[in-house]
Amino acid sequence: MKRVVSGIKPSGDLTLGNYLGAMKRWAENQHKEGYENFFFVANLHAITVKQDADQLKKRTYDIIAWLLTVGVDPNRSVIFVQSMIPAHSEICWILNNYVTMGELGKMTQFKDKSAKSGREGQLAGLYDYPVLMAGDVLLYDADEIPVGIDQVQHVELSRSIAQRFNNTHGETFKLPKATLSEKTSKIMSLNDPLKKMSKSDTEDSYISLDENPEKIIRKFKRAVTDSENSIRYGEDKPAISNLLVILSEFTEKSIDELVREYEGKGYGQFKKDIGEIVADKLTYLQQKFAEVRNDESRLKSIISQGNSNASILANEKVSIVKDKLGLI
Ligand code: AMP
Repeated sequence: MKRVVSGIKPSGDLTLGNYLGAMKRWAENQHKEGYENFFFVANLHAITVKQDADQLKKRTYDIIAWLLTVGVDPNRSVIFVQSMIPAHSEICWILNNYVTMGELGKMTQFKDKSAKSGREGQLAGLYDYPVLMAGDVLLYDADEIPVGIDQVQHVELSRSIAQRFNNTHGETFKLPKATLSEKTSKIMSLNDPLKKMSKSDTEDSYISLDENPEKIIRKFKRAVTDSENSIRYGEDKPAISNLLVILSEFTEKSIDELVREYEGKGYGQFKKDIGEIVADKLTYLQQKFAEVRNDESRLKSIISQGNSNASILANEKVSIVKDKLGLI
């Protein structure tokens, strides 16, 4: 049995990137034979950037509700909230002693985020983010971490930390592997196809999952395109390739099929179709979400069940680790 662990931060609007790159895949992967899935809300990671307390709490429940909406099934997968399992914070502190400042300073995400936020945003928590993430996966002996390409470096660091701990104290942690779905691992911004679609970017660059249909259609209409008015997939066509990936995910048609379908048609028609198809599907999902989100007591009970399942493994791992270190 292979174990998959993955998380999502409640730090802003959920985007089409989160949906296609993470949540939709998580739901699909639950049906793969021989896999056990752990999905969590990474709220401790979220506070590495200032958050409003009420918003953070609300978004935590929103994510659980979105996971259920897109088909993550609490009877098949363990769904939990990071901050409710103290073992995550505990293991992070311990693992801090198996990683150097040099290694953490090399992490692209830290360099990007701290450069954007200025001196006062260069928090120790942001710097330590990859160690908390290493703990998230090492606690559960995860085999596979389905991530976007942006997180591969962090999974590599988790491996190094695990390896170092194992070398010093004997076999303790399993070495996790990042798994990428080739096409959806990086859904790009609608106004700059060389940048990842991100909730921290300008509003017209991303589609949020709770966006209204008119806005969705408008944003796709305005999405940047490439030179040469043909619809095909390729490195020289980053904007159209990104739109093809999105359309393919929403229609369940292959990219080749779509390219054939749009042969001889212009960008205008193509972008109009994508906008309408995405708007339809998201409207349907939003209605489902509203129902699921409305029943907060059910959400709480799902979280509580998931937390209790996850805690068993997490606490066991922390206690093995503490024992090896002589921590009573
Ligand atoms: P985050 O919102 O940073 O917590 O990311 C949650 C998950 O969504 C991670 O697995 C990310 O790699 C994935 N993700 C976020 N944005 C994108 C994107 N634009 N394309 C593909 N995956 C993404």
